[in-house]
Amino acid sequence: MSTPSTIPDLAALLADDFDFKFVGEGAANIIFEIIQSQEPDPLLHDKLLRVPKARAIALDYLHVQEYWESSVRPLFQDGDLVNQVLVHLGACSAKQNLIISRMQAAVSSVEPTRRKDFRGSTVGETEYAMLVDDMRAARSNIKGGGGFEILLEFKPKWLTQSPDAPANAIRCRNCAKEWLRYHDKLQKKLQKPPKLQQSFTPDDKLQRRQTQKALPLPVLCTIDLLNSSSCIKARERVLSRLTDPSPTSRSTVALTNAIPEGSRQWRLLSRWLEGNSLLKRLELAQRANDDPEHLDRNGRGKRKRGGCLTALVGQENPELDLAMTLRDCTCFLRIPGPPGPPPLERAGAGGPAEEDDDDDDEQGEAAATEQDVEEESVEVEAKLGDLDKKNGAAKLATWQALERRLIDEGFYTKRRPRAEWTCALERTDEDEDED
Ligand SMILES: [Zn+2]
Repeated sequence: MSTPSTIPDLAALLADDFDFKFVGEGAANIIFEIIQSQEPDPLLHDKLLRVPKARAIALDYLHVQEYWESSVRPLFQDGDLVNQVLVHLGACSAKQNLIISRMQAAVSSVEPTRRKDFRGSTVGETEYAMLVDDMRAARSNIKGGGGFEILLEFKPKWLTQSPDAPANAIRCRNCAKEWLRYHDKLQKKLQKPPKLQQSFTPDDKLQRRQTQKALPLPVLCTIDLLNSSSCIKARERVLSRLTDPSPTSRSTVALTNAIPEGSRQWRLLSRWLEGNSLLKRLELAQRANDDPEHLDRNGRGKRKRGGCLTALVGQENPELDLAMTLRDCTCFLRIPGPPGPPPLERAGAGGPAEEDDDDDDEQGEAAATEQDVEEESVEVEAKLGDLDKKNGAAKLATWQALERRLIDEGFYTKRRPRAEWTCALERTDEDEDED
């Protein structure tokens, strides 16, 4: 862990002509791109700046970083995580005041386009900011290939079943939670008074069916995600979810561009799902923290799987906090684009390399072979981010209430008459026989 005295000063790293561009924000943080006309300091190379918002309810960055370095990073290999380093922000020099005011100006310039509930929030007066790897899609990628990358973000969530789930569960934690979310949205929508043009509909069942149709469906069974390495059908289901840019997938998936089935980027993603070891490491880390040595109330050692329902309010639950932190991370995938210049610049030169045509002459075959060879050497870049410590003391009651609902209202266990999707736990072996 860097000690405060060794943390670099942002003002000293920036050239005199610096400025900031707003990139994005969450409830507690804002992300900026650093703009400079000259070559940046090596520490700033390919980095974005993350700054806390004023009055945000979150741990301070010194503790966030300390936790990430001591508890999260040791669970992974080099290159698995979106790297983050602290920089000093808070001393009262003229340049540092300028840094804050330019960040605030960058936020103000996009005010009308911000999410409604985020408007008006400002950069906090804080001692530390954080430099994080820039995972945005680039025009060309570092590991060869050139062309346009696609950035795919998704939340793997619970890669193992909840330790609190009933033994007769037919749904994984993710599918159970997605069904609950769908159920609540449906109820809310049905309680709204019908719009004027619908007010002539006499049939409640019809209205219910129409509402069900209009609601987005849940997205990703993460048991399928893990099984993607060995089961072709699971991989196909995951691919169809991850490459769907429609709003129905947006609760856990974000995509900069559509990935057409069979395209080069689709094949690269499929290969990553089949061969990656990153999700396995994440699963093992989640599992390890679900199954710590628990002590019973008399202080005797007792091996017991621990979920949030076995945690005691008012006590430290470090394993649970870490498991919940690992369940809320984001997986960033940068998928290299087709080789050569961007499609627009190639217009008239034969179209995109990934497009198949029916031309099976020798030249066509030779080109395909070259493309295959080139594709072999290109890889998806995958990293996990958003791994700030969860504040279990503040959240335990919420986690427990949600888990209770999932159990008590049957979201883990009830069969549905007309299921729009099925969880991997719900499927029979016969469904997967072909694999
Ligand atoms: Zn599932």
